[in-house]
Amino acid sequence: RRPFPRPTRRRIFAVANQKGGVGKTTTTVNLAAALAMHGVRVLVVDLDPQGNASTALGVEHRSGVPSIYEVLLGDRPLHEVVVQSGEADGLYCAPATIDLAGAEIELVSMVAREGRLRKAIASLSKDVEVDYVFIDCPPSLGLLTVNALVAAKELLIPIQCEYYALEGLGQLLRNVDLVQAHLNQELRLTTILLTMYDSRTRLADQVVAEVKEHFGDRVLGTTIPRNVRLAEAPSYGQSALTYDPVSRGSLSYLAAARELAERGVDAPNGTVR
Ligand code: ADP
Ligand code: MG
Repeated sequence: RRPFPRPTRRRIFAVANQKGGVGKTTTTVNLAAALAMHGVRVLVVDLDPQGNASTALGVEHRSGVPSIYEVLLGDRPLHEVVVQSGEADGLYCAPATIDLAGAEIELVSMVAREGRLRKAIASLSKDVEVDYVFIDCPPSLGLLTVNALVAAKELLIPIQCEYYALEGLGQLLRNVDLVQAHLNQELRLTTILLTMYDSRTRLADQVVAEVKEHFGDRVLGTTIPRNVRLAEAPSYGQSALTYDPVSRGSLSYLAAARELAERGVDAPNGTVR
């Protein structure tokens, strides 16, 4: 395996789209696994109370296990809740438990409520030295997603190749503007990934063309096809790259991860444009 280039500075991605079911978690898990399998060290922060990313990485997340909830609401250091995923050496996960469902409300009355994840990642101890952090956001634009946008340097938006794909993105992008203006100047929308592409429909091609027209070279050249292996893998507590490494879904996430890694090194200012 030819290793992927490692960035000179840690890259922190929020994987966000307030629509559910567009492939945020599938993208987070499989990009993270692909990078880690190629010598890059990766932390996945599960910020969805459903804990789907934790599940797919084979990481325990029943109520009571140390989780991102204690980090956000209880000032617990992030490294204390981070566990190694069996998927690859150098792949770590901060799991989400169902307790996180209350966090959206509980955060409202906290001091510096938008910056709690940023602070936790910034003080991540050297025990968990990672090149990439992926924050898997819930399907909403509440305080959890805002925490992700404030903590991140880059925004990755998965867009499903379906009708209405762009609808609702305006709301996300307005939030991004607000976060840039008031909370995190560094945040950049660097990456769009088209997901669940179905080559049998003309509609899918129209969506691809429309998204590329709108977002230009921020759209990764790799488009993720609809592939049942990607949907099956989580029930085995695995990424698709482990579950079926030669499936079309796995190979496409592998190609997307390579693109992401190679771009990050070439992009002006290290990682961000
Ligand atoms: P989100 O995190 O945005 O809610 P998910 O990643 O959980 O979305 O994906 C929604 C559902 O679609 C899941 O059941 C997932 O397994 C499935 N899925 C995601 N991407 C694909 C794909 N490319 N092909 C087939 N199924 C997919
Ligand atoms: Mg999800």
